[in-house]
Amino acid sequence: EPLDALIAGLAVDVPDFPTPGVVFRDLTPVFADAAAFRRMVDGLAAPALSDPRAAAVADGRAGPGFDVVAGVEARGFLLAAAVALDAGTGVVPIRKAGKLPREAIAAGYELEYGTAALELHTDAIHPGQRVLLVDDVLATGGTLGAAISLIEQLGGVVTAVSVVIELTALGGRQRVAPHTVHALWTT
Ligand code: IMP
Repeated sequence: EPLDALIAGLAVDVPDFPTPGVVFRDLTPVFADAAAFRRMVDGLAAPALSDPRAAAVADGRAGPGFDVVAGVEARGFLLAAAVALDAGTGVVPIRKAGKLPREAIAAGYELEYGTAALELHTDAIHPGQRVLLVDDVLATGGTLGAAISLIEQLGGVVTAVSVVIELTALGGRQRVAPHTVHALWTT
């Protein structure tokens, strides 16, 4: 079964969540399915393994085409940790404002009503470090745009951005450009 069909079959549409008129794609049944979880983790790492692997060999660095995996709170944590463990790298959390205990940088982004911010410890990413950025859903792109900005402020190099679902109607891909988003299911 193709991975997009597998994800589409397990994800559940929840009307009017979190607010009336919004259809929320609930991915928790996809995470809970062992085969789907395995294939999602492989699929999220794949774009960073394909061409950057050659570059990694060329510049003398071993291993996959990324040095660390960054995940966005909260469902991105589940994915990023699994991808990192499988690839043999560490994992870095990009958190909602006010959660990190030490010196951090912040990046704000616009929500439909108001603004929000994401934070990253200043010592979490080193200049030149290659980062695979992972989240569950690309909607408007505000979240991933802010996450990329944090990584780049610290000198990190985002080698790939991977999500499980891209909701194309919201135009998030444009907001994240020039970075390309790799989605396992585009709908
Ligand atoms: P964006 O910033 O508008 O792209 O929204 C993406 C963020 O909101 C991600 O961190 C998602 O976890 C969350 N999100 C937005 N829409 C959905 C959805 O339909 N299902 C699950 N998460 C969503």
